[in-house]
Amino acid sequence: MPDKGLLIILSGPSGVGKDTVLDYVNSENENINVSISLTTRTMRDGEENGLNYYFVTREYFERKLNEDAFLEFAEYGGNLYGTPKAPVDDMLNKGRNVILKIEVQGAEKIRKLYPDCVSIFILPPSLAVLENRLRGRCSDDEESIQQRLLIAKEEMKRSLEYDYVVINDDLKKAVGDVVSIIAAEEFKTSRNKNKIREVMNYE
Ligand code: 5GP
Repeated sequence: MPDKGLLIILSGPSGVGKDTVLDYVNSENENINVSISLTTRTMRDGEENGLNYYFVTREYFERKLNEDAFLEFAEYGGNLYGTPKAPVDDMLNKGRNVILKIEVQGAEKIRKLYPDCVSIFILPPSLAVLENRLRGRCSDDEESIQQRLLIAKEEMKRSLEYDYVVINDDLKKAVGDVVSIIAAEEFKTSRNKNKIREVMNYE
């Protein structure tokens, strides 16, 4: 039986580059699955249903909530976001590492449910850089940019609750940092008990 996979929480303010970091991390570690959340927010240019998120109506989201289909969910900027339970547990049981790209309230809930998860917070080099990146994205209006900046400041205060922080100043370095953290965590003795047993049983 394979050891359980590693559950990794990746958080960071909107615009910090989590998606880009994740794309590269994903291509460097074959044993990673990124969980796809459900959201009630509208799709941005370049996003794809079933790839970035499952874009659903509030009614559908609430029905799934009543069916207890989420590991956690949170309201962010007036929209609902939730991590579907079944695929995450299924992947972990198969020994796959799973990344949840979620905000701080969701991270708090997941830490309680999975105390041996690993949490990583991505910080921008400064608030000014974050604001520029949000504006560069151009897909949000001024009101939602201001709202996201306010939320970002509150979220960044909570980076102290995470196991690791990575500053996304240089993308290549940030990707390398996240890959190294995951690699080190994968080698922990406590995560490799079945593997050790298999080696010891070999005649
Ligand atoms: P965005 O609208 O920029 O894609 O996401 C807004 C925030 O919601 C981001 O911080 C993102 O990581 C977070 N988020 C995405 N999916 C989930 C989820 O399933 N649960 C929680 N708690 N947060 C999520």
